[in-house]
Amino acid sequence: MPEEKNSEVARKLELLKLRFKEKATTDIGLLRAAADRFRAGDFSASDIASVYHSLHRLAGSAGTFGFSALGEEARSLEIMLKPLADMDDDSSGSAIAAEQGRDVVNQAFVDRVAQLESLLSLEQGAPLTGDDASPRASAERSEESVVLIVDPDQDAARDLACGLEFHGFLANIFPSVESAVVNGLAGVSVMVVRDDLVIRESRQLGSVADKPPIICVGAGDSFSQRYRLAERGVDGFVCEPVDIPVLADYMERLITERDEGGSGRVMIVDDDPELLEHYGLVLEEGGMEVRRVNKPAEILSVLSEFRPDIVLMDVQMGTFTGPNLARMLRFDPEWLGLPIIFLSSEEDREFQVAALAKGGDDFLTKPVSDAFLLRAVKVRCYRARQLGKLASRDSLTGLLKHSVAKFEIQKEHARCQRLGQQSVVAMLDLDHFKQVNDRYGHRTGDLVIKGLANLLRHRLRKSDVIGRYGGEEFVVALPDCSVENARQVLQSVCDHMAGIIFTANGQEFTVTLSVGVAPLQNSPTGDDALEAADQALYRRKQSGRNGVMVSGDEPEPAGTVS
Ligand code: GH3
Ligand code: MG
Ligand code: MG
Repeated sequence: MPEEKNSEVARKLELLKLRFKEKATTDIGLLRAAADRFRAGDFSASDIASVYHSLHRLAGSAGTFGFSALGEEARSLEIMLKPLADMDDDSSGSAIAAEQGRDVVNQAFVDRVAQLESLLSLEQGAPLTGDDASPRASAERSEESVVLIVDPDQDAARDLACGLEFHGFLANIFPSVESAVVNGLAGVSVMVVRDDLVIRESRQLGSVADKPPIICVGAGDSFSQRYRLAERGVDGFVCEPVDIPVLADYMERLITERDEGGSGRVMIVDDDPELLEHYGLVLEEGGMEVRRVNKPAEILSVLSEFRPDIVLMDVQMGTFTGPNLARMLRFDPEWLGLPIIFLSSEEDREFQVAALAKGGDDFLTKPVSDAFLLRAVKVRCYRARQLGKLASRDSLTGLLKHSVAKFEIQKEHARCQRLGQQSVVAMLDLDHFKQVNDRYGHRTGDLVIKGLANLLRHRLRKSDVIGRYGGEEFVVALPDCSVENARQVLQSVCDHMAGIIFTANGQEFTVTLSVGVAPLQNSPTGDDALEAADQALYRRKQSGRNGVMVSGDEPEPAGTVS
């Protein structure tokens, strides 16, 4: 499948290139006609302006479609013409004196314009090559993440595998890095490797192109050992004896970071349809979600609806300029933090700084190679998402904060009412959590809270809303889900939670969870549904904790577990 998709994208890119070639042929024809007029001593200001803009466009786009020599020549001619084009600004509409014209647009200039067409047959570099052309990473997390445990001590590996299973990880065990690599690392979310093996088998690890994150486990925790591991590209280190919830949390964080490293939402604003489509295809093929905007007047409505992580914006778009549009977006406090990156063939540093002062954040200079564009956009999306999360996510668990979760639930309420679909909300609360803090300390309590957060992330769908409502209280919304399904899914969360063995001060303990569930679509508001779920939770607490109570159900006698 991915190969078919790749060839489909390659075909579309090829079509765009042909379209560019056609347009460029027409443009070059017009350039030649203007050059002939220049040769005859006719330097009308409108000719100068349109030749300048044509050269600017070619300079910025030809490289993207594989015609770098044409792009460079157009850039060089554009720079030659700049003094005349600037003059045009002052004496708008009037013809430029033939003497001044001939100084700049000399015979050599005219001859070079005449040669431009021949450069269209000099094509370099096929678009979208190299590692970045790899098929898009799946956006969906499978229910269980696959972890490879690489340890010659098979008993220790099995114990670890058993513990991690309760946190939603499916473990495969290998005695050496080599055997793991031979078996294949595709689909592996994370590797947990005995530290000596990483050092002994670093060559085998180094040969793998797309490695999952690696966490080392080792008995000796010294500066030099940690440094040697970092030197070999390891992502984390856990000292023995391994605290499983700590390790699971570490793994979860690395997997989330990696998942999000490849994705992101980008809005591209460009008035050139071929360039817009080309950038869009390249970024989509790299796993990003893209919205293309061809008409600058549409950016506000697309922004509100699409909510991109970053905006890529052309600088010159007919009567609009990117910097002015950026300034306009900043009128609205909602878009103050939105990163805007200008894609521009303008290399003048003064111009760039002035554009940034108007409200842009960065420049990518055109022409930009496909691979570079994808990498540059991915890095900026990742950073924007990290910063965005700081505002909307709870720092301990990484789940949505109370206010954001409530807002999402209100949105889901409106959506399921509009579409007549079934959705469910649930409130979750850890049982006797105060005792956990009292007996084992607040830090251990925090680990239990993180453990439940990770469990929810694993067992619920990516489209579900998961929030930390308060200290040890959580809220979830399950779109397109019946109450019965919700009961089953959340009961399995309760069962898993009860099975996780935590350790503190050498003692082992478990913690249970109570859940109240209510349908969302029947309630007048999202808040009413949350209130009903809270009431159901309260009744579950009254009737024995550790399990699920659905709003409207009869409470079971105390002590029974549903
Ligand atoms: P119940 O089964 O009835 O829910 O009993 P409980 O002890 O869990 O409930 P209670 O509301 O009495 O206690 C909740 C405790 O959660 C009290 C508070 O100290 C603790 N807590 C709240 N936020 C945090 C946190 O961020 N970290 C830790 N470690 N504890 C927290
Ligand atoms: Mg509680
Ligand atoms: Mg509570």
